[in-house]
Amino acid sequence: MNLEQLWKQTLGEMEAQLSRANFATWLRNSQLIDKKDGIFFISLPNNFAKEWIENKYQKNILGILRGLDSSAKKLEFVVVNQEPKPVVKKSLGVDFNKFENQINFEYKIDPNTNLNPRYTLSTFVVGSSNELAYAAATAIIKEVGTKYNPFFIYGGVGLGKTHLIQAIGNEIRTLYNNKIRPRYVSSEKFTSDVVWAIRNRRMEDIKKKYRDVDVLIIDDIQFIGGKEKTEEEFFHTFNALYENNKQIIISSDRPPQSIPTLEERLRSRFEGGLTADIAYPEYEMRVAIVRDRLRASNRRLSAEVIDLVANSVKRNVRELEGVLNKILFYQERRGLDIDKKSAEEIIEKSTQNFARRISDDQVLTAVAAFYNVQIEDLTGRSRKKEMVEPRQVCMYLLRDVLRMSYPYIGEKLRRDHTTVIHSYEKVNHEINKNSPFNQKILLIKESLYNTNN
Ligand code: ADP
Ligand code: MG
Repeated sequence: MNLEQLWKQTLGEMEAQLSRANFATWLRNSQLIDKKDGIFFISLPNNFAKEWIENKYQKNILGILRGLDSSAKKLEFVVVNQEPKPVVKKSLGVDFNKFENQINFEYKIDPNTNLNPRYTLSTFVVGSSNELAYAAATAIIKEVGTKYNPFFIYGGVGLGKTHLIQAIGNEIRTLYNNKIRPRYVSSEKFTSDVVWAIRNRRMEDIKKKYRDVDVLIIDDIQFIGGKEKTEEEFFHTFNALYENNKQIIISSDRPPQSIPTLEERLRSRFEGGLTADIAYPEYEMRVAIVRDRLRASNRRLSAEVIDLVANSVKRNVRELEGVLNKILFYQERRGLDIDKKSAEEIIEKSTQNFARRISDDQVLTAVAAFYNVQIEDLTGRSRKKEMVEPRQVCMYLLRDVLRMSYPYIGEKLRRDHTTVIHSYEKVNHEINKNSPFNQKILLIKESLYNTNN
């Protein structure tokens, strides 16, 4: 029996033992991806499924597998995000090592540095939108701590900030044989560490953890702004590191001067170093990213289809990858010959998918929260000037994210559908000028996507 048959049969038996809902939720998207030295590797779509199955069904599954294949000794569950991460390839069942580049193994995040080895400079595609940031990154790697300190990188959602700053950490580690010690932390994690330390009177632990490093990489700093204690602690950490010539690398969704709640003294520290932005990837770069991914996973698509994919998402590399993965999925799993027409259909479907679980009310809520207005104001008749932008943004997002029809949006916001069209076009025009306005739209979108994770 090959892996696929083995798993199919195991699932068949499990299905008989479990309720339909349980089965559908936990096991439907699983796969037996490899077996090696008695260890059977099973992929699951997310962490929830992994924890659940490990705790509840591990024994059952092992029992069934052992009945079918007496070499089975142990199960190992791995999380494979099917969307938007790359899809597992059937043909790779033979060689487990080949998976490593394709799957984001959770357990592989280095506990000492908190870095994910998946992010490297060699997989980072460079174009005019990010070449400054890239050049700065390579310079920092050569002269850690001395020349470009701090390094502040900013740009919209899904444009490669996390990838680049983690890559710096990974490269430094290899280049200096672990003699220079980087540490990566998201600002949410930093905040929760500080809160925990205050509550438990363990501030010393935090100081040790974050000051006893050579390179501190802190992601999405905008979330720290306004949290007094956290900012205070970060400020001291920053100074302690800075004075000892330790490298500090910071990412944010906007430039330092646009983080309204950031304390002045922190802001001026940030501005004192090197700042680089990442803009939207240009067409050539999007094509290069698609081609790179194809090469890495040993897959092929026609030039025409590559062009379609590269044009399907223009302002977010993560979503671009999502579309590509969907196409590859259909090509392999469904054996579909990907021509222009089928590619168009898949693209249409998968770009809709980004909005899959978002409701129109959630859009209204997110816009109202962002502009600090009432939801009723959005649908209300008042002619107050400050309501113009939130309303237009709302109409734009309902169209752009949820692909609702103009008349439907009109009904929802109690406006004429020509007003909706006008608003949509106006916002769209503004965004394409890559204005600060654009940042706002991205932030609202991000808050929308995040509420659904
Ligand atoms: P951000 O932190 O800016 O929101 P990420 O760094 O998480 O974005 O990038 C989103 C996805 O796009 C990741 O899978 C990343 O590897 C990929 N990506 C972004 N920019 C590039 C690039 N220039 N080359 C290759 N992959 C990229
Ligand atoms: Mg990020």
